[in-house]
Amino acid sequence: MLHICCAPDAAIPWTELSQNMEVMGYFYGSNIHPSGEYDKRRSALEGLMAHVNGQCIYPAHSPHLWLKTASALADEPEGGKRCALCFRIQLEHTARAAVDSGCSHMCTTLTISPHKDAALINSIGKEIAENFGLIWIERVWRKNNGFLNSVKAAKSLGLYRQNYCGCIFGL
Ligand code: SF4
Repeated sequence: MLHICCAPDAAIPWTELSQNMEVMGYFYGSNIHPSGEYDKRRSALEGLMAHVNGQCIYPAHSPHLWLKTASALADEPEGGKRCALCFRIQLEHTARAAVDSGCSHMCTTLTISPHKDAALINSIGKEIAENFGLIWIERVWRKNNGFLNSVKAAKSLGLYRQNYCGCIFGL
């Protein structure tokens, strides 16, 4: 089960993992504000899934639930405690979906971003995966020009690329 934060970030991880695994995507999305932006990112991901003939789970967009938990950390800078909590929320939802779907492994596209703490993401992901009886696939996707290649792939596929992380606080 691959947690997908957005279509451009998923292009490289999906291609690499698909080489020797059956991959399913999970797009949490409830951290994304406003709803029109969620629609754009989801639509871009649906386009990528059509291109790779892949399956992705899209749970209901429930920003109020994400806000209920994260708004206590509204004043945190990007990259601070709110983001760590946000990673945890997204990856816990993904782990639940992975178990429900019969997946054995779990990974995330988040580490392709040069703006995010890959070590923290991998540590949270590993802890959550193990709590759910899953195997965490540790990757730092931005390595080996991963981020640059994702930008190129998104451009060639005409995928929408956002200019902020996602939540109202980041915006
Ligand atoms: S800036 Fe991004 S990672 Fe941080 S809380 Fe907002 S949506 Fe989540």
